[in-house]
Amino acid sequence: MLEPLTHIGRDPATGGYVRDAWSEADMELREWFAGEAARRGLDLREDRNGNLWAWWGDPAARRGVVTGSHLDSVRQGGAYDGPLGVVSAFAALDLLKNRGVTPGRPLGVVCFTDEEGARFGVPCMGSRLLTGAIQPDRALGLTDDDGDTLADVMARAGRKPYGIGRDEETLAHVGTFVELHVEQGRGLVDQGRPVGVASSIWPHGRWRFDFRGRADHAGTTRLADRDDPMLPFARMVLAARAGAERRGVVATIGKVHVSPGNANAIPGLVSAWLDARGADERDVRDLVAELAEGLDVREESWTPEVGFDAALRDRLARVAGGDTPAPILPTGAGHDAGIMAAAGVPAGMLFVRNPTGVSHSPDEHAEQADCESGVVALADVLEDLCR
Ligand SMILES: [Zn+2]
Repeated sequence: MLEPLTHIGRDPATGGYVRDAWSEADMELREWFAGEAARRGLDLREDRNGNLWAWWGDPAARRGVVTGSHLDSVRQGGAYDGPLGVVSAFAALDLLKNRGVTPGRPLGVVCFTDEEGARFGVPCMGSRLLTGAIQPDRALGLTDDDGDTLADVMARAGRKPYGIGRDEETLAHVGTFVELHVEQGRGLVDQGRPVGVASSIWPHGRWRFDFRGRADHAGTTRLADRDDPMLPFARMVLAARAGAERRGVVATIGKVHVSPGNANAIPGLVSAWLDARGADERDVRDLVAELAEGLDVREESWTPEVGFDAALRDRLARVAGGDTPAPILPTGAGHDAGIMAAAGVPAGMLFVRNPTGVSHSPDEHAEQADCESGVVALADVLEDLCR
């Protein structure tokens, strides 16, 4: 089932995926989702924030059990982060039908919009807007690398950008949300199990640092006369690593813009994005405060620790684990399930083993047999939840 997606947004040079929200690739992925819904006779809806919902049963009659994930990607990402959860959701519904199950509650498959935040810098945009975790005017004003705002690109895709924001009607349809996701670490490898359950998501955030200097000629400007913003930027990168090590958290600068970006010119502006996460919120906050001292820093997103609903977590572990309960693991990665949980929706996650632990890279992988175990576990969980 993943096969029809393999060509969409794939960079032939690297084998990685580029699937920005509202890009041509994203529109193709949405078409695929609509087709899968239609093929199964599911009722397809797109909410005001661009999230797609395919319903088996009527969620207006009774709150439903929803599963799914996202189809967008980080730039140069792998094939599984996101799509595995959506494909497994459809496959689990097929399995339930084959088992002759008639769900006692409506069952929904969701595809959340712009989970990775690759284009506008804010992750989980679809679920944040849905739950009101981000204000519409802030979201609409965010710009991509071409200077287009979210409002521009949504309008170009034929959507109504000024309709975005917290959506009570759609939220009222969701009784429980379970997201299946490829694991982004080696926890399940270490435990020798194909499927696990999430306990919590580490607190995490993104910050933008702007270093301003004076653009000038690389050959004729004496070192003493330079105001080169690359130097404080470099110091910040090294300080982030050292500070993270000291505190036992992780810090990453994975995106940098250098302006004007000429090999023979001293830059006038260096903008860098810091991603910092850790088990303890205080450590992450301390690190960012230390790095930010005296600099021009803006917080682009912050997500406190999200503990998933304990009763649901234990139920998932019991049902998904077969004879022995599935292992319960924390994760450093953010997910739509975390945003939903933070908004008070009972939510949980299933992880499928990742043999190398590598993610957000073309090398991301999951074995076919493990993906099938994931589908069976998800079907078992859905059958149990929609009794
Ligand atoms: Zn993901």
